[in-house]
Amino acid sequence: MERKIRPDTAKIIGKSSRFWIICAILIIGILCSTVLGAWAHGKIQKTSGQLGKLNPQLEQIKMDYQMAQQNLEELENVVNSSQEYQQKMQEIQQQFYQLIPQIDQKAQENPNVKVAYLTFDDGPSGTYTPQFLEVLKEHHILATFFVVGNQVEQHPEIVQQIQQQGHTIANHSYSHDFNKVYSNPTAFINDIEQANNAIEQACGQRAKIIRFPGGSATAKGQFPAIKELLNQKGYTYVDWNASCGDGRSGYTGDQLYQNTVNSIHGNNRVTILMHDRSQATLDALPKIISYLEENQYLILPLTPDQQMVQQKK
Ligand SMILES: [Zn+2]
Repeated sequence: MERKIRPDTAKIIGKSSRFWIICAILIIGILCSTVLGAWAHGKIQKTSGQLGKLNPQLEQIKMDYQMAQQNLEELENVVNSSQEYQQKMQEIQQQFYQLIPQIDQKAQENPNVKVAYLTFDDGPSGTYTPQFLEVLKEHHILATFFVVGNQVEQHPEIVQQIQQQGHTIANHSYSHDFNKVYSNPTAFINDIEQANNAIEQACGQRAKIIRFPGGSATAKGQFPAIKELLNQKGYTYVDWNASCGDGRSGYTGDQLYQNTVNSIHGNNRVTILMHDRSQATLDALPKIISYLEENQYLILPLTPDQQMVQQKK
């Protein structure tokens, strides 16, 4: 049987339950906002704490950055002044090089003017050439290096070192293979050009002075045709009129030194053949330099515009 509720009672019950529901919602709302507020407050405090810690780091980074920028500017200044220095050095070197043909001319006219050209063939050698460069540097001597193209490709950094020290880089063929270079004049000139490509690749300059593998006499009957081709290409060639004799192995440093002194034979203008490829020659070098200096020789690098010592003309 359906229980009847009086309409007034129903109204009162309806009103009071709505009241309690609203109260509950309000309480939950207040609780939630308090909890959320506390959480958010904690979060903000934590973040600002982290920011507080970050700030000194950011300051440090900013200072480091400013410092780096300052250093970079200083470095740029140094680089610029070093470029200026290098340019100045190159100018001085060029002026010096321009004087060499005149000095050489004087030596041809006056036997009291003595000049010596140290020439090193068949390098660069990874083992020996840097040591030869060191000895030359210690004695403030400039020389001429007749490099072989296939060696240049193996040690381009040594060719750069030779250039940086101010020595003359000259061309001694690419293959140094007698059968190949003396098979015909075109083969000879092609081999020379190939070596020059390797030299240019290594240090950015082409050599104007060449030395025939074995010397110009080795070209025999082909010499006139080769000489013609060399002239066409703007090359000049040089042989030697003194030698330490290290083309043959088995000599000690002292013997090579003695060979050199004997072969100079009082000549006031000497182009000395050596090879930067052995310990014995390395041992002989300081003694040869001392001998030349004690005997008032000016030791100079070869320059393309001077008159060269040539066995075959
Ligand atoms: Zn050679």
